[in-house]
Amino acid sequence: MKAITQIRPILLLICAGVLTFIAAKEMLEMRKPDIIIPSEGLTQKRKLSDYLNNLLNTNGNSDIYIFDSGEPGANVLVLGGTHPNEPAGFISAVVMTENVRVMKGKLIVIPQACLSGFSTTDPLEGSPQEFFINSKRRFRFGSRVSNPIDQWPDPLVYLHYPSKQKLSGFETRNLNRAYPGKPNGTFTERVAYAIVQLIKKEKINIAFDLHEAAPEIPIINAIVTHEKGKDIAATSVFNLEFNGFQYALELSPTNFRGLSHREWGDATDVIPFLMETSNPIQGRLRGVTNQNLIINGIDKFYNEAVQLNRLRITYRVEGESLAHRVGRHLEAFIEIINAYNEIHPDNTIIIENLPNYGDLINNGIEKFLN
Ligand SMILES: [Zn+2]
Repeated sequence: MKAITQIRPILLLICAGVLTFIAAKEMLEMRKPDIIIPSEGLTQKRKLSDYLNNLLNTNGNSDIYIFDSGEPGANVLVLGGTHPNEPAGFISAVVMTENVRVMKGKLIVIPQACLSGFSTTDPLEGSPQEFFINSKRRFRFGSRVSNPIDQWPDPLVYLHYPSKQKLSGFETRNLNRAYPGKPNGTFTERVAYAIVQLIKKEKINIAFDLHEAAPEIPIINAIVTHEKGKDIAATSVFNLEFNGFQYALELSPTNFRGLSHREWGDATDVIPFLMETSNPIQGRLRGVTNQNLIINGIDKFYNEAVQLNRLRITYRVEGESLAHRVGRHLEAFIEIINAYNEIHPDNTIIIENLPNYGDLINNGIEKFLN
């Protein structure tokens, strides 16, 4: 009897040790950086700390890829990974980085704007930690917000700087509620500040922030812009619709603070655009949550919901594949650049070798990864 009572705690300790080992291994796996192999058109690689020194040696020191043609023209910025649980934004920026050649003007790409968020997942979502394209290229699937390791604790109420707008405490770690940021503020405010400094210092003319949202969110397949961008957005939406891509044009609300499409436009000379695609893995109706859902975007519950036709849902019965979602981002990007060039013939940018929607659907994303 005595022997049994001694064995039990030992067995429990061994079990706890094994579980801790597995959990720690999975956690450390999320620290392994994603590999991005830029195209030959790359002229310079920088870091976010070049624009705000106190990000040096932090989890917020994102890589910046610069494609400078050397010919004077427009300067364009693209952000992926503002929300690391929205893979189409991240992968669109990776596809750009790995393919583009800029013939006139300058293109700057930050594929992982909220680098910290790539090192963790959101609690209680059961999300996969990573996904593979063509079994060779591994990418992390992260959290919507910065890792609590980099910014903790969350306040009960998040007060946006400088507007004092009140949001739920959790939003204090959301990069897209932190603009224009603060040089000595919270970790996330500092990342936001560095991005705004980059926009000012590099004299960016147009900037993109690539996102995704749950199929039931009203702002899906939309282009959101500041008042400054409405002519360009209207021209682009018209041309996209003409080519069979349904898009809504949304103007950035003036009283909702902290978002890229509002604060970039107010704080700098840039014309901002934010795009959203429909991502079932973020949705509340979803069932099995795994890599397949990221890549194929097929979910039986969304399928059923669409067929019942009782909800306003942006979801296609064939699914919302990653190739479809990245294709939409790239197609809209190309149209917005075309519209900008048309409206500003004195200051254009020429980007070559960027796949469009058809290229991605016909060949798969893997064809455009190095
Ligand atoms: Zn987002």
